[in-house]
Amino acid sequence: MRRDTTPSPGSQTSLREANRSRIVAAVKRFGGLTQVELAAATGLSTATVSTIVKELVGTGVVETETTSRSGRRALRVTIARSAGLVAGIHIGPRSLAVALGDLAHDVVAEQALPLPADHRPDTSLDRAALLIVDLLERVGTDLDGLLGVGVAIAAPVESGTGLIAVRGALRGWEEVPVAQVLTKRLARPVHVESDAGLGALAEHQLGAGRYVQDVLYVRLSYGTSAGLILGGRLHHGGSGAAGQLGHVQVSPAGPVCSCGNRGCLDTEVGEAALLELLRPALGEVTLRDVVRRAQQGDPGCARVLADAARLTGEVVAGVVTLLDPQVVVVGGELARAGDGVVVALRESVHRHALPHRFAPVDVVAGQLGPRAELIGALELARKETDVEGVAR
Ligand SMILES: [Zn+2]
Repeated sequence: MRRDTTPSPGSQTSLREANRSRIVAAVKRFGGLTQVELAAATGLSTATVSTIVKELVGTGVVETETTSRSGRRALRVTIARSAGLVAGIHIGPRSLAVALGDLAHDVVAEQALPLPADHRPDTSLDRAALLIVDLLERVGTDLDGLLGVGVAIAAPVESGTGLIAVRGALRGWEEVPVAQVLTKRLARPVHVESDAGLGALAEHQLGAGRYVQDVLYVRLSYGTSAGLILGGRLHHGGSGAAGQLGHVQVSPAGPVCSCGNRGCLDTEVGEAALLELLRPALGEVTLRDVVRRAQQGDPGCARVLADAARLTGEVVAGVVTLLDPQVVVVGGELARAGDGVVVALRESVHRHALPHRFAPVDVVAGQLGPRAELIGALELARKETDVEGVAR
């Protein structure tokens, strides 16, 4: 378990406040811990933890329940559900998903719907806001019960302006300040990150990258992207455009990409390229059809997806050689097509990355499946919510 290294300033009051914050931060991060685990996570004594937990129960910030660990009775501490809910939104290239979660990391309601290609920002954001209000009603509350919103969007986000950092990444959305638009509709703080980044965050906090500090999350979808956790933190890069795996050049004389360069990876493994390869055999199909057919054992669809994974693996191998992550986690719609995709990507990474002296890097399917990005959006909202401030 990682220790919180927040520095503790001198005075008694500020020390007490710092200790309270450490405990709340640890409970927020891990979802629910016994007092002994809390002491280990924060570096505080069990007596201090016990005193502060009592105070926090009194102010309605946390709840406790009796549980057993290794056969002994223990008190499990979670953030109080009455502290409020957060909302997560995933705006994908062809889908919209919305969820409500409590501060104890549980999803309490969710809904997803398909979107047309090149969906418009104003209608999609309206729908997302309406869905949140709907879900709040469904669980018996309203906007007053909502603390904040996290948004995962299928494009890199520029940290300063909150605008999409790469032209052509999500057509029509370049000039839309997503956080501002949703804040206006919902009157709550809204935080936006790329969906690959939030997929990485979710797999790091709760999934396949849980016990390590350096995670490369590869999102195989209508386009290809990556999320990077370096030293336990989400890496944005200088302009917010980190993780644009699909725009790494693989053939200098290749076709012109949506970004304006030539021969990017996505010109070979993006939606249009994959469907083009299958057109002679299958005619007009969608990427959803291709994934479904591959799951059902269609050899042509499985072959096209495995070949795409293999080429993507060559690019991922370069990133692995450069950054040396402990694990590569594979997510996105295409990863659902079956083991073939992850196996092909793993073999390709192992073949092309710098051979490791002891063991090659782990390349595994994500544990959170297609909801990783949505779970990441909830995590982002939780991370940005000042729980103690809410309870005061
Ligand atoms: Zn490109």
